[in-house]
Amino acid sequence: MMDGTASGLRTPWEEPPARGEAIEIAEGVLWMRLPLPMVLDHVNVYAIDEGDSWTIVDTGFSTGKTKAIWTDLLAGPLKGRPVSRVVVTHHHPDHVGLAGWFMAEQGAELVTSRTSWLMARMLILDYEETVTPQAIEFWRSAGMDEAILQKRIDEKPYNFADVCDPLPVGYTRLKQDDVFRAGGRDWDVHMGNGHAPEHVTLWSRDDNLVLAGDQIISSISPNIGVYPTEPDADPIGDWIESCQRLATLARGDHLVLSGHKLPFTGLPLRMKQMEDNHHNALDRLEAHIAEPKPASACFSPLFKRTVDENIYGLALVETIAHLNNLLRTGRATRTRNASGAWLWQAVKKG
Ligand SMILES: [Zn+2]
Repeated sequence: MMDGTASGLRTPWEEPPARGEAIEIAEGVLWMRLPLPMVLDHVNVYAIDEGDSWTIVDTGFSTGKTKAIWTDLLAGPLKGRPVSRVVVTHHHPDHVGLAGWFMAEQGAELVTSRTSWLMARMLILDYEETVTPQAIEFWRSAGMDEAILQKRIDEKPYNFADVCDPLPVGYTRLKQDDVFRAGGRDWDVHMGNGHAPEHVTLWSRDDNLVLAGDQIISSISPNIGVYPTEPDADPIGDWIESCQRLATLARGDHLVLSGHKLPFTGLPLRMKQMEDNHHNALDRLEAHIAEPKPASACFSPLFKRTVDENIYGLALVETIAHLNNLLRTGRATRTRNASGAWLWQAVKKG
């Protein structure tokens, strides 16, 4: 996560809802918060009033604690009414973790993009007991510190199923340009990319609400990473394309309801900041690799804070994302060194 300057943005609520409570952010739209056991320690979820039931947007991790909080929320602010639909903005566990639980316990319908569905279902089923050779090769290519690499090889890998309930088959697809009816509003569906492929965002036609998931966040830039599943992916290019396309929809009065941090207005400025952050990062990175370096030696131009063990993994995947973009756009080249790491070097400007 990189810091974004938030000047000019307004956050109408300076305090998030307390645990087990909800804030009615607009008529029939409730904002709630669930804890995450990570550096980013919370996720926002929303409930949209459908009269006799609720449509919820995102779910939090599957943990005993999160289920207990949801049970309190259902009995309290959600007035004992059932959850009839779960909208999942994207496939990450803090958003999809309890979708299967709501489906199994409440008979809720799952609504998401096809790619989010496929990624979530695949990664929840794909349980790895040991680190794959492809992951080791990927980390070696990134020049991962040998001690960290060995620790990862020795540890049981992180699996989606550790923090997600099983996801049954069956979902309803949202796609670009659909109109989704919820809470007495028509919502235009626009897909984002970069943080997660085919990330759902919902734009109300009837008032100023935007349900943005992690595609648009007020004060942090969501992690944009490259993984062993697609080592040569260019999510930064995808992100910049999404920023430019979604910026054409942005209005100053939009109230953006994001997956993390606080709801905010000032979206046109934020869209520009989010794009500029990555252009500036790419420029700094390009200057940093005037002499050849592995990805693991490229954190300083991208991260203002020291990269400790807690964020090393996130920092590495984000750094590779930026390097892959420089390669794609003809601004860098790479060669293998003797230990199998890519050395990245900026193309000299003539
Ligand atoms: Zn996410």
